[in-house]
Amino acid sequence: MYHDHSDRGPTVGAREILDRLPALSPDLLQQADQRFAVRVSRSWLSRVRTLDGPLGRQALPGPRELLADPGDRVDPVGEQARSPLPWVVQKHDDRVLLLLTRRCHLNCRYCFRRDHRGPEDPTPAELDAALRFCVDSGADELILSGGDPLAVSDRRLFDVIDAVRPQVPVVRIHTRAPISAPDRVSPGLVKGLRARAPVWVVVHCNHPDELSADVVASLFRLVDAGVPVLNQAVLLAGVNDDVAVLAALFTRLVRLRVFPYYLHHPDSVQGNAAFRLTPERGLELVSGLSAVVSGVALPRYVIDPPDGLGKIDVAQWVRAGRRRPVP
Ligand code: SF4
Repeated sequence: MYHDHSDRGPTVGAREILDRLPALSPDLLQQADQRFAVRVSRSWLSRVRTLDGPLGRQALPGPRELLADPGDRVDPVGEQARSPLPWVVQKHDDRVLLLLTRRCHLNCRYCFRRDHRGPEDPTPAELDAALRFCVDSGADELILSGGDPLAVSDRRLFDVIDAVRPQVPVVRIHTRAPISAPDRVSPGLVKGLRARAPVWVVVHCNHPDELSADVVASLFRLVDAGVPVLNQAVLLAGVNDDVAVLAALFTRLVRLRVFPYYLHHPDSVQGNAAFRLTPERGLELVSGLSAVVSGVALPRYVIDPPDGLGKIDVAQWVRAGRRRPVP
């Protein structure tokens, strides 16, 4: 049975989705939901024009999602071996990643963590242990990820940031909320982040149609308060695998004072085969993009391979025969 997520803030139920998108099969919705919950914010649903448009494809299941694919991987970015304790991943000495929750305002159908199972939030004891590890890790930077770290309350978020200071001076929040649920960026949240500088916010926007007026307003609330905002996009077949779309996205972000930081090659996990494209095709698109945008609107095109050693430029990875180059 489809879960009604109305207890999780501004997400909509199955009835509302089907009323708005009658072409969506209720059976497909239910089956897909059992594998990876279908969770869509009211704001996002209001921006979906068609099921197979860029916003519809990212948020709502397609038939391929139910099929296994030979390219499917468990743990596509090699996090399991780099997780010293639950909810923590550390791939680099100077950075440590804390998965603050598994909840999101929008469950993107291509998400590389879509097969994560288990409780949605750490227990208080797990969170305490995770924070202790982060403080003692020697890292300079705490990356809050998930799930969406802005799916937790301001109080919990601020407590987590305060708990790692002063040992971990820089905090980065990787969140889709300013794009998927822009009302989440409240004046109280912005004030709290500003007071805790340096806190960087890294948003996730893949298509210019995501940048509606309320989303722009949420980004401006952050930027105008002096909170630095970067974007990570994922290159997705059928969504943004087009030079003109990518150019429109990144030039628009620059105008909004959001730096286009990374363009990620999609990670292969069961259920997201419909979004994949080859690294060669990605390089072709990025080469086309570099001919039409300025340097500030050209993100680094990277891949996070399953070896667990972190991101690498796709060009370098392809040149080395789709493996980590030997230094
Ligand atoms: S918001 Fe991020 S973590 Fe959540 S489903 Fe989308 S890609 Fe995954």
